[in-house]
Amino acid sequence: MSHDDRLPHLLGMTSAELMGLAESFGQPAFRGRQIADWLYKRSAHTVDEMTDLPSSFRDTLRDACILRRHEIVSRDISSDHTTKFLLALEDRNTVESVLLPYADRVSVCLSTQVGCAMACAFCATAVGGLVRDLRAGEIVDQALTLQSESPGRITHVVYMGMGEPLLNYDNVVRSIHLLNEEVGIGQRHMTISTVGIVPRILQLADEGLQVTLAISLHAPNDTLRKTLMPAASTSTVRSLVQACRAYAEKTHRRVTFEYLLIRDVNDSQEHARELASLLKGLLCNVNLIPYNEVESLGFKRPGRDSIQSFRAVLEGEGTAVTQRMERGHSISAACGQLRRRSETP
Ligand code: SAH
Repeated sequence: MSHDDRLPHLLGMTSAELMGLAESFGQPAFRGRQIADWLYKRSAHTVDEMTDLPSSFRDTLRDACILRRHEIVSRDISSDHTTKFLLALEDRNTVESVLLPYADRVSVCLSTQVGCAMACAFCATAVGGLVRDLRAGEIVDQALTLQSESPGRITHVVYMGMGEPLLNYDNVVRSIHLLNEEVGIGQRHMTISTVGIVPRILQLADEGLQVTLAISLHAPNDTLRKTLMPAASTSTVRSLVQACRAYAEKTHRRVTFEYLLIRDVNDSQEHARELASLLKGLLCNVNLIPYNEVESLGFKRPGRDSIQSFRAVLEGEGTAVTQRMERGHSISAACGQLRRRSETP
């Protein structure tokens, strides 16, 4: 490779930064805006495509900067059109991203790290541990790559792919700004899903963003949560709920609590009562997610009846509940499964 790793990556820079970059090469600032347009609106793969730039400037950019785009390794299309992509990064690591077309919107699920350090007992991504953080440009590239495969414009983004977004905080926040200001996706249509890193939640509350915070709670008490989510359990469920209260008060955004239902582990009516009591009085919504079984981890999805009675208890206690639509089941849409399958044939 002729490229030096220390050169700046174009994808990941804001319009303002690209304008500064253009000026640093003796070009007028508006050239930076043109580059931003090529990157984020026209999804250029190479500097050569940026045909409205002077060719001498294109030569400069090619020598002094890096532009790398993800390569689609595989697509797995489910009968409901949910499509899961395995994408190769420039260092040949892979991440998964999912395109979810609905009648009235198109959502993408993005990864924030290669692998994950959180070691959640039920999760396929946890198996290999953390490899590395993604750069902001690598997070945005997933959306750009999926956009070119999508029948309609991407309207919604969920940070629910591989990795723990709040442990790659700066890159995730930068990617939110890029997707919002450069690509044009509304912040209110973005959701960050996290195991719940309390200091980072409080920091995010002060960021002045309008994104939805979703907490992967999965257990109503510390004892059970510790067995399922060991690394996340350095904060107690109470302090987590407290941090969410602060987030809701500062941002006026309703917080979502994701609750994975795993058979005979966290799906009893007693668990439901405990969960309702934990969340009492908080501006929130509980999203019930029937577990997607992962080979060799041993956890099972509960039957329909116990999912229904869990839900009924919550609703009886006045908790707002939604249930994740069953999408992409046939393509092992649980995060991490595709990458794992490709690495362990
Ligand atoms: N680290 C972040 C975001 C990535 S995981 C987080 O934990 O929120 C996105 C969601 O998928 C989390 O709620 C996670 O607990 C859930 N998940 C992981 N494995 C799953 C599986 N096999 N079936 C269903 N959901 C799963």
